[in-house]
Amino acid sequence: MKIGLSRESFNGSLKQLQEEYRIYAPVSMAFKGTFSDTDSIRYKEITTIEEIEFERKSHFSPKETLLPITQVLFYFTEDEYKEPSSDEKKLLVFLRACDIHAVKRIDQMYLKNGELDPYYKHARDRVKFVLIGCEESFRNCFCVSMGTNQTEDYSIGLKLTAEEVLLDIKDEDLNVYFVGEEKEFQVDYVTSNDTKVTVPDNLSGDVAKSDMWREYDKRCIACGKCNFVCPTCTCFAMQDIFYKDNENNGERRRVWASCHVDGYTDMAGGHSFRKKHGDRMRYKTLHKVYDFNKRFGYHMCVGCGRCDDACPQYISFSTCINKLNDLGEAEK
Ligand code: SF4
Ligand code: SF4
Repeated sequence: MKIGLSRESFNGSLKQLQEEYRIYAPVSMAFKGTFSDTDSIRYKEITTIEEIEFERKSHFSPKETLLPITQVLFYFTEDEYKEPSSDEKKLLVFLRACDIHAVKRIDQMYLKNGELDPYYKHARDRVKFVLIGCEESFRNCFCVSMGTNQTEDYSIGLKLTAEEVLLDIKDEDLNVYFVGEEKEFQVDYVTSNDTKVTVPDNLSGDVAKSDMWREYDKRCIACGKCNFVCPTCTCFAMQDIFYKDNENNGERRRVWASCHVDGYTDMAGGHSFRKKHGDRMRYKTLHKVYDFNKRFGYHMCVGCGRCDDACPQYISFSTCINKLNDLGEAEK
């Protein structure tokens, strides 16, 4: 069903939906950005369309609505443990095509990679997606090169005009919430980005020994920002928190981890791999565009460009992929 409705009517529908759903969308938080006088655009619960940031790319991805940065897995005492009570409300998340493709990557890691993760599954079973069309490409995006610029995998597709909100509602459960006039339209998607990458298809394990990674030994400061903004990074670390008033009680949390940050590869006995920052860059890069593909048949990176947006050292991941390709070409 494709319809057009006013913003007031759309907000009325959101209000009704809130009885059953928590609604998340990118929101601009003024002056909360990393640098002076910059905003932070992150996913927050919203109640009206006016709160949604449509003009700019979100700095953090919608991943945090399904996989919180910090999540309590269970509480424990000396004798027993208890899982936190779970939120049963459904989720409606507004996001762009690349981020819907990114959810497929998280599903691969958390649901189709041996034992499924019950915490992620609980969130995944409750979520529906509203695709925000992209009229034009943002800076650093290379979704077209990665084939993630378009998707049909949504419950509602949304296009905003000056006069109305156009909706392509595919999910029959959601039809009842929206009343509007039938309209023919297509959800926007970009067909070209300024940034283009060529992912090499002929890489051998020898690239791991290339000198190209040494450039990043000094340039990368191992801050981990590129991992934390990435919609497809799925690593976490475990933390046991013991309460101060009774040290026999506490909680186990999982917290997002970064393969760039010191300590990620620490092992018993004081051993640690990938001490050089360039080796960490190599590990991340080859995971995103080589070994994930080798294992599952498609690349992990969706080309959202957030890592390039966030890096304080102006390290460009898209340039890194193109350098890898040059290496592959030279080996031919
Ligand atoms: S462009 Fe960067 S942040 Fe986006 S999916 Fe690829 S590696 Fe992750
Ligand atoms: S954001 Fe840049 S400097 Fe920080 S870990 Fe990633 S590549 Fe290194």
